Formats: sequence, C-alpha cells, structure tokens
Amino acid sequence: MKSIIFLAPPAAGKGTLSEYLVKKFGYVHISTGEILRDYAEEKESLAHQLEKGEYIEDDIIIKLVTQKIASLPKNTLFILDGVPRTLKQAQMLDPYLPSNVIPINIEVDPSILLKRVLGRVVCPQCDRNYNVYFKEFKPLVDNLCDDCKISLEKRSDDTEGSFLKRYQKYQESVLPIIKFYQEKGTLIRLENKDEDQNELIKKLVEVIDDN
Ligand SMILES: [Zn+2]
Repeated sequence: MKSIIFLAPPAAGKGTLSEYLVKKFGYVHISTGEILRDYAEEKESLAHQLEKGEYIEDDIIIKLVTQKIASLPKNTLFILDGVPRTLKQAQMLDPYLPSNVIPINIEVDPSILLKRVLGRVVCPQCDRNYNVYFKEFKPLVDNLCDDCKISLEKRSDDTEGSFLKRYQKYQESVLPIIKFYQEKGTLIRLENKDEDQNELIKKLVEVIDDN
C-alpha cells in the first residue's frame, strides 16, 4: 500500500476520501491546519500569525510535517493534506518522504465543484454536511437536520464568487507542484467526471493498492 499526498481543489471531496482511507485502511491523516494549531498552543508568536491569517514560513511547515511523519510507527500509511502548498514546500519535503509516497492529483470539473459548494448546507448543532443538489446528501425533510431536527444553514463563504476565487488561487499554486511531481514521474492523476464519488473511491483504492 502507498501513502498519499493529496492535491485537490476546494470541494473535491478530499475530506470524504481521507475519512474513507482512515476508517478502512488505518491511514493517519496529517493536515497542516491541525499540526499548526497544535504547535501554536506551545508557541505564542505562531498563534498570533495564525489568528491574523498570516503566511507561515515554508520551513516551519515542513519541519513540523516531517517531525510528524518521523514520529509515526514504521510502515504507517499516511495522507498529507494541505502540504505541499507551494513548489518550494514540495522541493523541501521531497528528501524526507518514504519511497512509498505517491502524489495524487484529483481533477474534478469546476461545474461539479461549484454545485457542491452552492448546494452545501450544514447543521449548526452537529456540523453534519448536507447537499440540496445531490440525492444521497439531501436531508430527509427539507432543510432539517436528520439527527437534530433543526434548520440547516449555509456557510457565508459558500458563494460562487468566493468559490471561484479559491479555485483560481488553488490552480495557480498547484500547477508548479504538479509539474514538479510529473517530472519526477511519480504523479498519479485521478479524474472524477461523475458527480458521484464512489467511482473515485474505487479508482483511488486501485491506485494505492497497486503492490
Ligand atoms: Zn444536526
């Protein structure tokens, strides 16, 4: 089995895929967001930077991520989520990665991503996500959480404008990273043409289970 670097645009379903791999195969999910928040509890200056949404230097991120990887028991499978975010991070990270790590680029038609974003509603009490545009993610009763029976809410940044901005920013940052892994010959591309994620999960399992 392989460990994974996930490269995927916003709303591509990285969360769902990660959750599946964690539950089914015992992957450890390494997210830069979480690592930075943990570290910020020890280091006040970083906490201030995070609070203000400031850019955190590449070497700090890479140091924390590689420390985390090194702390895992041998042969633990992991998913890197949110790192590398820049070409420089990809280059810095590379020498520290075990040989069974594959970068996977998930490609989803932006019109499907947009539908996911615009249809998303969340339960304010239990944080469960629903989607009014997809049958399998609709609540049983319109606009009510199945579990809590209270009204679902839309997130304020789930708008077309905000999505397009995030999507474009992602494309700009990911292209050099994709090129980097392509040139190394390690990049795997997974296309999700369908609106359904089950097909993507199947393809993903084939790729990670390769040998
Ligand atoms: Zn709920």
